[in-house]
Amino acid sequence: MSGTMTVEEARERVFARCRVLEAEEVGLLDALGRVLAAEARSDIDVAPFDNSAMDGYAVHAADLAGASSDAPVTLDVVSHIAAGDYSDLEVGPGQAARIMTGAPMPPGADSVVMVEFTESGAAEGSTGGTVRVMREPQLGEHIRRRGEEVRAGDVVLAAGEIIGPAGIGLLASTGHATVTVFRRPRVAVLSTGDELVEVDEVPGPGQIRNSNSYSIAAQVIAAGGVPVRYPIVSDDPDATRDAFTRAAAECDFIVTSGGVSVGDFDYVKPILEELGEMEFCKVAMRPGNPQTLGSIGDVPFFGLPGNPTSTFVGFEIFVRPALRYMQGHTELDRPRQTVRLAHDVKKKQDRRYYLRARVTVADDGALEVALSGSQSSALLTAAHRGNCLLVLPEGDGSFAAGSEVQVVRLDMEEGIA
Ligand code: AMP
Ligand code: MG
Repeated sequence: MSGTMTVEEARERVFARCRVLEAEEVGLLDALGRVLAAEARSDIDVAPFDNSAMDGYAVHAADLAGASSDAPVTLDVVSHIAAGDYSDLEVGPGQAARIMTGAPMPPGADSVVMVEFTESGAAEGSTGGTVRVMREPQLGEHIRRRGEEVRAGDVVLAAGEIIGPAGIGLLASTGHATVTVFRRPRVAVLSTGDELVEVDEVPGPGQIRNSNSYSIAAQVIAAGGVPVRYPIVSDDPDATRDAFTRAAAECDFIVTSGGVSVGDFDYVKPILEELGEMEFCKVAMRPGNPQTLGSIGDVPFFGLPGNPTSTFVGFEIFVRPALRYMQGHTELDRPRQTVRLAHDVKKKQDRRYYLRARVTVADDGALEVALSGSQSSALLTAAHRGNCLLVLPEGDGSFAAGSEVQVVRLDMEEGIA
């Protein structure tokens, strides 16, 4: 057991107990938000063929030199090509093909004129006839080239890239019905406390609902993990031992809430020490003491305090980055911003404060932060209303309205800013 340590030291120790999980092959849509474990190459050229970027006419640019609304040029329309059609009919000099967006360019034509700059000499939808063109195109205008996005055999997404919706589209166009991504950690969520009842029960005298189990599970999902919520663990050594043993056998990471103070019925620390290793208990931050790190076998363990906001903040600072690391992410920190304080804030303790707050855009356009409710660690409303943690550094201090302070944005993804 070690003494008090900084948030940074504690985080390093958490990472040291975690490993990047193995890769797995998943259906394309299941890859959303995950990290690609092996590069993905394209099986074809994308686009697969030169095609029109506009509805209009495929033409020879040279035929239309000087064309304008005052001096239109008339061309013979020799074919009509819709998206999905294919025409190998040559478009010769003085000729044009009616062409739709995405349709393959016919042989011979070198440019596309938008339909807006033409007047058809034929009935709507009919082939043949003539077209009057009121514009001179640039050579190659409005043609999307074969292989513009990627060539057959080229890497379309590299290992380590995070797959967003656009990445899903790229993988689909290059033939990847399945992709290889890092596995999501199964995270055991264990709430300890004899005072706890389930969410669908009405608490009796001295009881409260087990809200942490749900808030932690939600944070696990938001971090990309798969929560496994276990039944409430009573404040009893045997129950604690059984629950931890089962969680370590079934999951990749264990998160507990409560039972880590110096109360008479706090069994998390002694049982963790008995079954595995326990590394630290106190981090110089508020809210959130104590935090308990360890492992059972090769399964990392993080014991959060029971107070709902301490649980919430501790998860954000320590558990979320660890779960992202396990999924192959390299960006592990939420974006930090320097913003203007909307009102005075005082702090006393030496510890670093993480206050629940909200950043908004002030009338003058600057970003401004204000506390989003009561800062009691037993209350969750301020965290719910907030979008950031206002970080006040170690040491005593008064922070005046208008001064610059640091916030950690909880509504923005790691890796931005
Ligand atoms: P503990 O760390 O076990 O001493 O708990 C600290 C405080 O957090 C107590 O007021 C508990 O009632 C509360 N608490 C503990 N576990 C939970 C939970 N699962 N849901 C909501 N509050 C809890
Ligand atoms: Mg307790």
